[in-house]
Order: sequence, then structure tokens, then C-alpha cells
Amino acid sequence: MADGTREDIWPDTTRWTGRIYSDGWRVSEGGTSRVTEPATGEPLAEVGVAAPEDVARAGAGAARAQRAWALAAPLERAEVLLRAARALREHTDVVREWIVRESGGVPAKGDYEIAAGLGQLAQAAGLASLPQGEILTPAVPGQASHAYRVPLGVVAVINPWNAPLLFAMRALAPALVLGNAVLLKPDPHTPVSGGVLVAHLFEEAGLPAGLLHVLPGGAETGRAVVADPHVAMVSFTGSTEAGRAVARTASAGPKRVALELGGKNSIVVLDDADVEAAATAGALSSFGYQGQACVAAGRHLVHADLVEPYTEALLGQARALRVGDPRDHGVALGPVISEHQALRIERIVDESVAAGARVLTGGRRDGLFYPPTVLDRVGRAMPAYREEIFGPVAPVVPFRTDEEAVEIANDTEYGLTAAVHSRSVPRALGVADQLRTGMVHINDVSAKDAPNAPFGGMGASGNGSRVGGTANLEQFTQWRWVTVPEAV
Ligand code: NAD
Repeated sequence: MADGTREDIWPDTTRWTGRIYSDGWRVSEGGTSRVTEPATGEPLAEVGVAAPEDVARAGAGAARAQRAWALAAPLERAEVLLRAARALREHTDVVREWIVRESGGVPAKGDYEIAAGLGQLAQAAGLASLPQGEILTPAVPGQASHAYRVPLGVVAVINPWNAPLLFAMRALAPALVLGNAVLLKPDPHTPVSGGVLVAHLFEEAGLPAGLLHVLPGGAETGRAVVADPHVAMVSFTGSTEAGRAVARTASAGPKRVALELGGKNSIVVLDDADVEAAATAGALSSFGYQGQACVAAGRHLVHADLVEPYTEALLGQARALRVGDPRDHGVALGPVISEHQALRIERIVDESVAAGARVLTGGRRDGLFYPPTVLDRVGRAMPAYREEIFGPVAPVVPFRTDEEAVEIANDTEYGLTAAVHSRSVPRALGVADQLRTGMVHINDVSAKDAPNAPFGGMGASGNGSRVGGTANLEQFTQWRWVTVPEAV
């Protein structure tokens, strides 16, 4: 798929290799960057890197194109998204293959991203026909006063590597349908599934020229995108550290910033929980896609009376999961994305063990392959308790009362998601109400999303923004208030 010679394959590699997408496929000023397959170390692709000059050109082009797009009929904009969804369905096999090979997830992870991306496109298409305004009571009788939503202009979308297609679609689809143009900066690990393929899908869908620019590159390209004077809003998904830097740069605009950041999420298992079901949800939440999800479970808070059976069940699940090349049949966990990430997981586990934690299974990596790992005797000062791990590690922490469970779950600067397990739904909801998180799921995994749900976190997990469903109206438009002295 990446040999650069076969022109019959989709998308034709000779069109995009070494290029960026900005008013068509063009050679960039920033040179090129190689994409490496984490499972094998093989080179997969060579993409263009957007230099600050490319970003400036893209910003100006996007601003020009957006003016006409904002005046297009809303259903015309919606149809582009529906055609992009059709193109994604037609190219499912290729898209899945790229997600698997670039991000190191198993094929089911690719299928999940594709289904979720299709959901985002369908959901966003419906936004175009929702009411976009309000008739206000005028200050003086006889006058007319109304308010309606208008596009922001050019929206920058900056994404990480862990769900590249989904994160592109969840911001791009609502931004475009509501009349904005988009500068999309994918992560350097996944510029094809998070950028090149997205450009091809929208090209096939007939999106007018100039409305979508795909600008691969690292933090430097990201900084140029955020600072570009044509950019009115930044939709950022990534680490809290980078999110804070993005917010600082954007404040000089000043421009709107939506931050979807990290998490340290708890699975809370109350004393009346179904232990087997809770452990299955816990294993999925900590080990799925090698734990590389903002919504992964970073703490398993288990009532002291259930710690033993819960840990046994979790260990059973962990030991049954095969680790290897995600393209091999029967493999459940592929590699982590990079050496940097593998070293980070190793440090967190090793430092925690040195401080007294115990490894019950896993804990030793083979290159980028980190096995499902269960830790107990995890104390509050340890990195496994405090830090977002972003690896397949499940720290088990006991508690005695519901109040203590709430206190431990809230003992973090993050506030993204949680899950509460109990045979009594009212009791679980009572605990859920006390958690400081943007999302909470009863008797389920912590790692959930849906295209019609307002996804986002509290505290260091975000800045109050939500992406998904009708929350996208608020996110990707601004209000205009209009008055007329005499109503007509
Ligand atoms: P990261 O913050 O290092 O990078 C994310 C993106 O930001 C990349 O495209 C990167 O090039 C860019 N970037 C980095 N510094 C920048 C800067 N100063 N200005 C502009 N752009 C910049 O993220 P990562 O560590 O690779 O990804 C994992 C993190 O993302 C985890 O913390 C995870 O929890 C978080 N995440 C959050 C969500 C969510 O929806 N809340 C979803 C997925 C991942």
C-alpha cells in the first residue's frame, strides 16, 4: 500500500507522497517526514511537512473560500458530508489497513474508528437543518430583535495519533457543515489515516476547493496553525501540557479554544457489584488499544471485600490477551505507538514498583510491545496512581466506603470520565453524581463515546468545551444579534 508505484490503488500514492493538501496536492516548504509502522519498524509512507509559509498560505486560502461556503445552502453543505460518508464506506478496507498499520491497533480498532467516523458525519449532517436562531422580545414594543448563529470562519483542528480518523471527523464534520473552513494538522505518527485519507474522502465528496487544508507536521506546525491570523478557533485534542501551550498562544488572538485533554479515569467497583462483569469492563477499559485512550481506566477502585475476586478475574482476562503484530489473527494488543511512549510506561511502572507496588502480571516490555499489566499495593504518591499512563496498565486500589471511593476518584487534577459498578443503579447514580468528571457510565466501561453525546471533561481534562451532538452548534458557531427599529 505504500510502495508509491501502483496507481490503481486508493488513494494513488503518487499524488500525495511528499506533499501536503492545500488547494490540491502540493510540494511543501517544510520538506518531508517518514511514517514508520510501530509493529515492524518498516517505513510506511512519506508525507509533506507544512512550514510556517505553507500554513500562512493555507490560512489565507481558507479564509477566501469560507466566505462563499458560508452563503451556500445548509443542505448543500450537509450533502458533502453524506457523500464523504459514502466514500468512507467504499474505501473501508484501505482505511482500516492504514489505521492498523500506522497506529498499531487491531483491525477491530480500525472498524470502531470507521463506524464512529461515519456516525460523526451522519450526526453533523443533521446539524445544518436545526434551528439556528431565536426571536427575542424587543426592548421597545414594535421593534424587531433576533439572534442567529453564524460561522466562526477558519477553524484549526489539531489531533493526536490514537484515534486519528475519528478525531478528524468529529471536529471537521460539524465545523464544515456549519459554514467554516478547516486547517487540519494531524499527528506526525498518523498523518495518513488522520489527514491524507481525510483529504481524499472530502475530495471525492466534492468539497469545494480551499475549504480543507491538511497540514502535517509536529509541534512547530501546530504552533504556526494556532497563531495564524486567519484562524478564529482552535479545536485541540491531545495532552494537557500541549493544550495549555495552545491556549496561551491562542489567547493573544484572542481566539476561541476547545481543549479535549488527558484523563486519569476510575472504574469504581462497589461492594454489591457483579465482579465478573466489572472485571471485564475494567480489562477492556485498561487494555483496549494498549490503554492508549484518554478515556482508558487509570485506576481500578475496588471495595476491599471484592479486591481478591476482582483481581483474580482481571488477571484471568489480562493473561488471555495475546500481544503481537495487530495484523496477526488472534492478537488483542499491538505495539504502543513509539519508543517515547514505551519508555514512559516503563518509567511509571518501575518507579511505582520501587516505591512498593507489586506487579501481578506483565510489567516487562519487548521493544514496543508492552503486555497487559496489573498492579496492586499502589500508594497515592506513586506515579501509577497519579499520572496518566497511556499504556495497558491497571492499578488496583482498595477502598472501604462509598465516600472514600468518591474521594479517591476525585483525587486528581483530571476529570474526564468514570464508570461505577453496582447491582443497585440508584446507588451507582448517587456515587456518579459526586464524581467531578464530564462523563460517567454505570455498569460499563469508562471508554465510551457516541456521535450525539457531549464528549469532554472537567478540570485538567479540558476547558469546559464539549464535542458531539448539539453541543457542536455552540462549539463551531458564534451569535449575531440583529435589531430593526420598526418591525417589518
Ligand atoms: P500531544 O499533546 O503531544 O500532541 C497532540 C497534537 O498536538 C499533535 O498533533 C502535536 O503535534 C500537537 N502539538 C504538540 N504541541 C503543540 C503546540 N505547542 N502547539 C500546537 N500543537 C502542538 O499528545 P500526545 O501525548 O501524543 O497524545 C496523547 C494525549 O492526548 C493524552 O494525554 C490523551 O489523554 C490525550 N487525548 C485526549 C482526548 C480527548 O478527547 N479528551 C482524546 C485522545 C487523546
